[in-house]
Order: sequence, then C-alpha cells, then structure tokens
Amino acid sequence: MNKHLKQLIDLSTLDKEIDSFADEEARINQRLNTVLEEQNGYRDEIETLATEIEELGNAKSKNNTLLGELTDKIKEIEKKSALIKSEKELKALQLEEEIAKEQISHANDEIARLDKIAKEKEADIATNEEKIEKLAESIAEAEKETESEMAELEKRKQETFAQKDEQIKDFPQKLLSFYQKIRRWAGSESVVPVRKQACFGCHMRLNNKIYAEVLKSEEIVNCPHCGRILYAEFEDGE
Ligand SMILES: [Zn+2]
Repeated sequence: MNKHLKQLIDLSTLDKEIDSFADEEARINQRLNTVLEEQNGYRDEIETLATEIEELGNAKSKNNTLLGELTDKIKEIEKKSALIKSEKELKALQLEEEIAKEQISHANDEIARLDKIAKEKEADIATNEEKIEKLAESIAEAEKETESEMAELEKRKQETFAQKDEQIKDFPQKLLSFYQKIRRWAGSESVVPVRKQACFGCHMRLNNKIYAEVLKSEEIVNCPHCGRILYAEFEDGE
C-alpha cells in the first residue's frame, strides 16, 4: 500500500477517535446529570410549596386581623346595648351582632381550611426532602463513577493525542493540508473505505477504472463524486 495512504488512514482513525471524545464525555456525565436533575426537580417543588405556604400564612393573618376587628365590634355592640332606649335600636344592634358573629364563624372556618392546606403542603415538603436524602447516595455513587470514567477517558485522550503528534511528525505538510481541507467538511468521514464498489462516504458507485486504482492502493485516490480519500479494505487490514 502507498505509504502516504497508509498514513492518512491511520491519521483519520486517530481523528475519528478524537472526535468521539465529546460524545463519550456527554455519555459519562449523563448518569450524574440525570440524578442531579431529579434532585433539582424536588428542590424546585419544595420552593414552590414554601411560597404557597407563605401565601396561605398571609391569608391566615388577614383573617386573624379580621377576627380581632370583629371581636372589638362585638364588645362595642355590648357597650351600646347597655345604653339602648328603644326596641328599634335593640333590633338594629341585635342584627349587627348576628352579622358580626356570622363573620367570626366564617373567618374561623377559613383559618381552619387554610391551616389544613398548609399542613398538607408541609407534608409534601417533607416527602420531597426524604426523596432528596435518598438520592444523595445515588449522587455520590454517580459522582464517583463519573470521576473514574473521566480519568480513564482523559488517559485515553492523552494517549491518542500523543499518537497523533507522533503520526504528524513525519507527515508531509502538503499531504496534511490536503487531508485537513477535506476534513473541514467531511469531518470523521474524510478517509473512507470502498464497499461494493461504492464510496462509503457518499455511497455513489465508482467506475471500474477508479475502482481498480483503489484496489491497487498505489496512489491516493479521491472519490470522483464527493472528493473523500478512498481506500480498499483487505482482510488482513493492510
Ligand atoms: Zn464519495
């Protein structure tokens, strides 16, 4: 096989591996991200519940203020009733008292209702806190796993970069820029095999002449359709 073609195949194999590192990193981080997202979901829920409880508290204190006002009013009515002179006045005061008492009972019901809802929400907060606590173990595990897998990947990265540096060292500059130009648009698929007499990059069929040249592997052959560098796959890998 043409020495330069062999170099190009090796270089593109290394580049393909380098290109795959980002996906690998995302895959490694995924498990941890999933549990962290779950944890954030519970935290958000707690925050929402706490805001709702605060609003319930505000509504409750409004009702308490109202209760105070109504109690004062009833006291005033009692004072007034001591000074009453006519039946008409008495009836009017009784009616006023009745209404105030009704309002007091309504305010008390409302406070009880608000307290009940607040209690339910507090229980929901406790449930979410329990879930967060249970997740802590999974998070710690995922962190440990992520860390070790990342270290492993980092090692592979360093090795691959070193191999690439070694590869490029005795690479003819012209050949390198020729390859890099194709790589700019073809990415990891810049140097591709020929399978079933077709370019494995664009899948177009090659004519017999080009195909024969690829099989000979004496020259660097570009796909006439897409421009990628072609090579023949042999069983022994040569
Ligand atoms: Zn092609």
